[in-house]
Amino acid sequence: TPAIRLTGLEKTYAGGKRALDGISLEIPRGSMFGLLGPNGAGKSTLINILAGLVMKTGGKAEVWGFDIDEHPRNAKASIGVVPQELLFDAFFTPFETLELQAGLYGVPKERRRSMELLEKVRLADKAHVYTRQLSGGMKRRLLIAKALVHNPPVIILDEPTAGVDIELRQMLWQYVRELHAGGTTIVLTTHYLEEAEELCDRIAIVNHGRIVADKSKADLLAQA
Ligand code: ADP
Ligand code: ADP
Repeated sequence: TPAIRLTGLEKTYAGGKRALDGISLEIPRGSMFGLLGPNGAGKSTLINILAGLVMKTGGKAEVWGFDIDEHPRNAKASIGVVPQELLFDAFFTPFETLELQAGLYGVPKERRRSMELLEKVRLADKAHVYTRQLSGGMKRRLLIAKALVHNPPVIILDEPTAGVDIELRQMLWQYVRELHAGGTTIVLTTHYLEEAEELCDRIAIVNHGRIVADKSKADLLAQA
């Protein structure tokens, strides 16, 4: 089974906006998959459905072989989502943020590795300050660590480099490559073709809630 399989996925928001208009897509295990599309294409909606934050209104979604309707907990345990918004409880420290997240996912104390994760994203020296004191780049790195707490096989990053300067962008890309090399399936959304080209081995293009292309990077570039 693929890491993620979507079959005719639909979302019509309460106000009538049809954000996803029948998305069918397979994301192979071990791939570095880019979901490319302009603002408003439906990328965040798709991710939020997989994250369990938005209810789909039609179709089917499976994560790591688990149907999100039939096995929501297993599906949720199989992905880590790095959201676009840099939102935290400002009065927790990075260390506490990760411990809390581990608790939410039922990771037993002896299997927690909050300090190790903070070291990985180079935040060990900020482990015990309040998150409100972190810079934007530090917050983004903390969000990545937070998504990894339960050691999911699939990581989804929503516009990971939106509003990020060149230096931090390179660091984030390097970090995502290391995760991928370690065997994690990576899905990232972006509206920069350049970013998808640089990082991804497979790219799907979304527009108006539909998949308009789904190709290996080589095929996509050959066609352009
Ligand atoms: P739903 O219950 O359909 O998932 P939400 O609770 O996410 O809807 O959003 C409630 C309302 O907030 C929407 O019907 C819409 O009017 C407004 N809204 C929130 N985010 C957006 C957005 N990005 N674009 C347009 N409207 C939005
Ligand atoms: P992207 O992530 O590709 O920019 P989104 O999934 O955020 O696209 O949005 C897809 C469409 O759905 C847009 O037209 C957006 O305004 C609309 N939308 C997003 N969230 C909501 C919401 N909560 N309520 C109503 N419309 C929404």
